[in-house]
Amino acid sequence: MERYDIAIVGSGPAGLEAAINGKIRNKNVVIFGNKDFSAKLVKAPLINNYLGFYDITGVELKAKFEQHINYLGITIVNERINSIYAMGEYFTLMVNEKMYEAKTVILATGVEYTKPIAGEEEFLGRGVGYCATCDAPLYRGKTVAIVSYNKHFEEEANFVSELAEKLYYIPIYEEEYKLREGIEIIKDKPLKIEGEDRVTKLVLSKQETPTDGVFILKDSVPPAQLVPGLEIENGHIKVDREMNTNIAGCFAAGDCTGKPYQYIKSAGEGLVAALSAVSYLDNKQH
Ligand code: FAD
Repeated sequence: MERYDIAIVGSGPAGLEAAINGKIRNKNVVIFGNKDFSAKLVKAPLINNYLGFYDITGVELKAKFEQHINYLGITIVNERINSIYAMGEYFTLMVNEKMYEAKTVILATGVEYTKPIAGEEEFLGRGVGYCATCDAPLYRGKTVAIVSYNKHFEEEANFVSELAEKLYYIPIYEEEYKLREGIEIIKDKPLKIEGEDRVTKLVLSKQETPTDGVFILKDSVPPAQLVPGLEIENGHIKVDREMNTNIAGCFAAGDCTGKPYQYIKSAGEGLVAALSAVSYLDNKQH
């Protein structure tokens, strides 16, 4: 299996800037994210505080970023990383059943504004999960609820419905649904996950559904779940000025390390993280 020098998780300004600098320093770089780069980029109505690019919409700034990465031959791998394990000399990055390897990792995952559902953290691993396709076999013949924040998770729901006896799909978005027959769509707000040893119920604002499991599918995974052992401080990944996390070879940049939440701060930290990863790799060689 190919072992990358630097794996970057997240395709916002932090991740893109890290990729650019890793590439300029001749490292073998892979970047995971999505084709729109970042919802927080394409949704910005007007940007005036990014040096050199002013009076510009998010879509226009995205186009500039795209030209830049294309110029350097960087392509984004359209995958959501579910978990990252430090193996000593390298890291493994898991995308459902697929695996990637890299000598260093830069976390540039942004921040999730949506708060966890009550009971989400309490029942994590006891009926609550973030990767429906990974855990679907555990729910063969059972009832599952999927709380989905993005249309592209419909594919995952369709797969789970092949194994589960009953599937409730709770979309937190307004778009046309492309779901298999038999999947029950509930347009309601999830409030609480309940149970005893394991999950037994999802409470919504207008109804309750008995369920054996709840999958919460967002574009990002909470950092502490993404990288076991990662130190978090006040809700953000703890880093020093070189963007080192508490795990050797693992760096972080952008909104995920703390406020202010701004493009240029994210991009600046992406640069620092990439240069730190390069030094780390070079020191390992000597
Ligand atoms: P993000 O841009 O959030 O990018 C993170 C990316 O990583 C996302 O695409 C996410 O899907 C992906 N990702 C997360 N987890 C994973 C995973 N496990 N696997 C793969 N990919 C993953 N800032 C300004 O400076 N000026 C402005 O004018 C401005 N206007 C804004 C307007 C709006 C409407 C919003 C919402 C924000 C605005 N911001 C503005 C803030 C700015 O958008 C953020 O600070 C910036 O996007 C953060 O960049 P980032 O790279 O750290 O993270």
